[in-house]
Amino acid sequence: MGILEGKRILVAGVTMDSSIGFAVARAAQEQGADVVVSNFGRALGITKRIVSRLPKQAPVIELDVTDDAHLQRLPEQLGEHFDGLDGVVHSIAFANPETLLGGRFLEGPWPDVAQAVQVSAYSLASLSTACLPLMSSGGAVVAMTFDATVAWPAYDWMGVAKAGLESCSRYLARDLGPRGIRVNLVSAGPLKTLAAKAIPGFEDLESMWSDRAPLGWDEQDQGPTARAVVALLSDFFPATTGEIVHVDGGYHAMGA
Ligand code: NAP
Repeated sequence: MGILEGKRILVAGVTMDSSIGFAVARAAQEQGADVVVSNFGRALGITKRIVSRLPKQAPVIELDVTDDAHLQRLPEQLGEHFDGLDGVVHSIAFANPETLLGGRFLEGPWPDVAQAVQVSAYSLASLSTACLPLMSSGGAVVAMTFDATVAWPAYDWMGVAKAGLESCSRYLARDLGPRGIRVNLVSAGPLKTLAAKAIPGFEDLESMWSDRAPLGWDEQDQGPTARAVVALLSDFFPATTGEIVHVDGGYHAMGA
């Protein structure tokens, strides 16, 4: 029996089979979960094709986290597939690569920064809140970060958005804990996904990561990150919330 047997999970943010969300959906199904996947806009068609590669069928619903109407109708949409929700995976981020990433930090224009913060940080709160009507029995929320305690080359305003996400998760942990809902983050090392490829210069980080991480690091393997997300969704972390679990080969703990 898997550690997510009988659990109903929303995985938000699956575009390709390289998406961390895709690896999470697969690992969750392998552990017995029923999964609904979401994505938005033009990529929705791609997501619908990609989910056929999952071990089990997973309905795909449309969710743009910047669209209030989408958030409002989310419980109804999920209700077509589930009679409740045990877990929410937030695997969503966006920052305009032309203005906010790749070393032009000092020039980042506010409207683009506002969009990055809304999609990548605020949406953890709006998505979690939208799911509350289905989470009356408690549950778990897990989101993805890239260590926001330091400044990275190229990551620029996405780093600021991730700092917001990390703080947001702690406030959500405070306010949702009394409802039996745990809120945690997985801080992953660099992984070759669409989002990572959009960051000019991010590949330099990838090559140094595997040299410095004591456990080594394979930027092509979303599996370890996905399994950590599944563990946090499961009943094996019943007293853990507001936490950031590093899945980075140990890179974050090294001084040099
Ligand atoms: P990904 O495959 O590109 O996933 C990002 C997802 O966010 C995509 O499905 C994207 O949809 C979706 N998205 C963007 N704007 C959205 C919106 N307004 N509403 C709903 N969904 C939206 O890349 P990924 O690397 O797996 O990213 C997943 C998460 O992991 C992100 O939070 C990312 O920052 C984090 N992370 C990634 C790495 C890494 O190295 N790859 C490391 C640590 C943390 P579209 O494709 O349609 O735009």
